Amino acid sequence: MGWLEADTAVVYGKVVEGFRVPFVRDEYYDTIIVPGFSDAHMHPQVVDGGVEPGRLWRHSYDWIENRRLVVDEASVRRDISLASRLASATLKRALLEGVTMVALTGNAEANVRAWAGLHVPPKAVFLPTIIRKPGWPSLEKAREILRRLRGVIDDGLARLGVFLHSIRYAGEDQVLEAVRGARALGGLVGIHLGEGLPEGDSYRRIVGGHPPGVRVVAVHCIDDDDPSAFGLLCASCPASNLILYGRTRRSLRGVTSFGSDWPLLIGTVARHLPLILRVFDGFVEGVLRRLTVGGYRDYGVSYTGDLAAFDVELDRLLERYEPPRLVMVAGREAVVEGMLAGTGETIGEVEREIRKLVRETIDLYGDGPSGVADPIENALKALEYGLSKVHSAPAPTL
Ligand SMILES: [Zn+2]
Repeated sequence: MGWLEADTAVVYGKVVEGFRVPFVRDEYYDTIIVPGFSDAHMHPQVVDGGVEPGRLWRHSYDWIENRRLVVDEASVRRDISLASRLASATLKRALLEGVTMVALTGNAEANVRAWAGLHVPPKAVFLPTIIRKPGWPSLEKAREILRRLRGVIDDGLARLGVFLHSIRYAGEDQVLEAVRGARALGGLVGIHLGEGLPEGDSYRRIVGGHPPGVRVVAVHCIDDDDPSAFGLLCASCPASNLILYGRTRRSLRGVTSFGSDWPLLIGTVARHLPLILRVFDGFVEGVLRRLTVGGYRDYGVSYTGDLAAFDVELDRLLERYEPPRLVMVAGREAVVEGMLAGTGETIGEVEREIRKLVRETIDLYGDGPSGVADPIENALKALEYGLSKVHSAPAPTL
């Protein structure tokens, strides 16, 4: 036996000096983050945001109705093999960036398949997306999917729930039914809410109060003063908010966690740490707490045995993204010396795989303006533009 030691650690969001825990061998790092990062909102099958750098949208409904996607999303989610390869690349990227807990929307069967295929997967929450649109599941269909998956997920490292696309696209009746009946579906409900316009009052009018033991995580919640006033948890997604609307929530009040939204395009929340700190300037521990234990607490997932260790000092990590050298999930080594356990893949290799997969997806299910620039470059350019709207200083490097 040996010791895992660090000069500085972030333990449950608190910065402490001199950290030491028993480990299988002696190892020393500049910074250890306990648990690792939690990414409370991810669409692992999104390969294009339909964004145009320089163009901002009024709210999510404006974006969804008027965007021009380069792929047919319903076909991508129906292709279980491709959908699961996209999810696998997302999960690998998450671990290699230091994320130890993820909440995944989209095709739950594909996401579970990808998760089960990893040597040491991150803790996960699977939330099939409910949309009233051809090619997407209704609440009834999601119930069936969850019944099937329940048998696969029995080791306590993952949880199930449902994701309501939004009040308008899931429909008020399904929003009410999903929240009322949530305990039978895993007790977890996610919903895009307040993404560019206030929706807390509508939500309260539709749902009334929450049944005991049910957690409802509102995602984005840009425009309601304090989501907790409506009984809601709030996963804020600053990066995608800046891309789409050129603004994001300015107060941490009521924000319980952070999400990346489009990890294949813009990376996970671990990568967004410097950006989030610029938005919520001066609230280092408040941001770190929400970025680490935040997602775990929102979804009721245990963070025992999870950490990410870095060869750089904390001050530098807050300014510029650096990948971790060691990542542990439930006491098992998921990333060792910057390489994925089992396959030895590095973050650079997984990023190249993601670029190939995005290209392959467009080739297979292309359905929009041809000749559109690379969706990854497009999203990164749009992020720079969005940041320029709220900050005059240059954008941080992602
Ligand atoms: Zn989303």
